[in-house]
Amino acid sequence: MNNTKVALVTGANKGIGFQIAQDLTTRGFTVLVGSRRLGSGQEAAQRIGARAHALQLDVTDPRSIAAAAERIRGDFQRLDVLVNNAGIAYAGPPGASFEEKIAAGRPSTASMDHMRAIFETNVFGVIATIQAMLPLLRQAPVGRIVNVSSTVGSLTLQSDPSHPVRAIIDTLYSPSKTALNAVTVAFAKELQGTNITVNAVCPGFTATDLNNFRGHRSVEEGAREAVRLALLEGGPTGTFSNDDGIVPW
Ligand code: NAP
Repeated sequence: MNNTKVALVTGANKGIGFQIAQDLTTRGFTVLVGSRRLGSGQEAAQRIGARAHALQLDVTDPRSIAAAAERIRGDFQRLDVLVNNAGIAYAGPPGASFEEKIAAGRPSTASMDHMRAIFETNVFGVIATIQAMLPLLRQAPVGRIVNVSSTVGSLTLQSDPSHPVRAIIDTLYSPSKTALNAVTVAFAKELQGTNITVNAVCPGFTATDLNNFRGHRSVEEGAREAVRLALLEGGPTGTFSNDDGIVPW
């Protein structure tokens, strides 16, 4: 087996995923920069440095996922960490303002097509990617799966009148992260007692394209909890956390 640990970060060509990829290379990992457009992944990998390699990966495309797993097995022979970071918050035409993105999620008027597209990426894409990468992760000395979720997916916080996420009235993105949390718990239970841990993290409200750079946290801050769990060997499984600690489901 190749001696250098290998991590795959999906949606790593920009935003929080790029930062997670960069941070993992500085911790000695070979990092596969998952990107649905290979060119963007190649540019990102070049910016990160020699330990980063672009990997074409569209999490909504089964052939792309299968080809990515094949390439990892052939070219890198191992996978220790999978960070499911790729995600979308809006499925309408490009160029929408932050306010338009928020309005699109209104439960009484939200588009079912948008909801399907968001779930396709944020939920089904994660399940399909984990399934394809599991045979490799099972061979790792210590396998780690980190799902990048959000506190807006916490039903406990959404129901708490005193919590700021209560103000977000959204039936597209937030429920997709609630479902992702459920998926995290299901995989953690199935893989309990194996070499693989499965956890969900929230980066906090981070300035990226996803929110038209309205977030108040830097990508360095946003990447921190995912990187912590990606590095943790013998850590917990089936948890949901952010920089402040455990987040309620
Ligand atoms: P971002 O800058 O928009 O980055 C999203 C990444 O996901 C991009 O690389 C994008 O690729 C990729 N992606 C989208 N659909 C994909 C697909 N089908 N296959 C593969 N890659 C795909 O957003 P971000 O803020 O860094 O988001 C990263 C993660 O953090 C997401 O899961 C998001 O839900 C979560 N999150 C973000 C915040 C926040 O405040 N920013 C808060 C909580 C959670 P393209 O460049 O090709 O579009």
